[in-house]
Amino acid sequence: MLRVIFGGTFDPIHNGHVLTSLFAFHLLKGDQLHVMPSAQPPHRDFPGASAAQRLEMVRLAYADQPDVCAEPWELQRERTSYSLLTLQEMHNQWPEDKLVFLLGNDAFAKLHTWHGWQQLLDVAHLAVMQRPHETKEWSSEVQALAQRHQVKEIDKLHQTPNGAIICLPTPEIALSATELRQAMAAHGPWEQHVPAGVADYIKQQQLYQTA
Ligand code: ATP
Repeated sequence: MLRVIFGGTFDPIHNGHVLTSLFAFHLLKGDQLHVMPSAQPPHRDFPGASAAQRLEMVRLAYADQPDVCAEPWELQRERTSYSLLTLQEMHNQWPEDKLVFLLGNDAFAKLHTWHGWQQLLDVAHLAVMQRPHETKEWSSEVQALAQRHQVKEIDKLHQTPNGAIICLPTPEIALSATELRQAMAAHGPWEQHVPAGVADYIKQQQLYQTA
């Protein structure tokens, strides 16, 4: 079984996350997509919505997708949400399954700043999604890693247990949660950029009223 793990702050989850992750999941021919909010994001200040609210928004965003779950893994553990620790735990939990960690190109470009980044490929594959505007040049460390591990065919990810990096031709959607939080606080347009269930929840919970 091939499990695709999509981690993030999701504060809030938006159409950029949902459309690209579903596109990637189908390209990868995955069996299960785990969309996993982080508990305490190591790379940023504390988010605007609570962990439980971010998980609920993820659940609402993919409510019509039977192969997608809102993954509470990192919210159930009292530790910093390092992706490496999570993937190692998942690997122990499902030793027979393949894990593919899905991330945007902006995140991949600075992968070398992540805790234990060189060990990620010991337990998982990495799949990189396109992201316009935010796209940064890969760091020299990331370029070197890609040189050793990048593959062109998705089938490679099904044939090997871990250790491959693939760049996926996902649609480019120029959206970020930061822009949406700012638009909400400024009473600008935002509703069309999140799934309808998420928009209703944000209004009902009165989230993101200040920037
Ligand atoms: P923020 O603006 O608050 O930093 P964000 O919109 O970048 O939020 P995150 O929760 O930080 O969202 O991102 C989670 C993952 O989703 C990261 O791997 C990121 O690269 C990816 N991602 C976010 N937005 C997009 C998008 N529009 N297209 C493709 N990938 C995206």
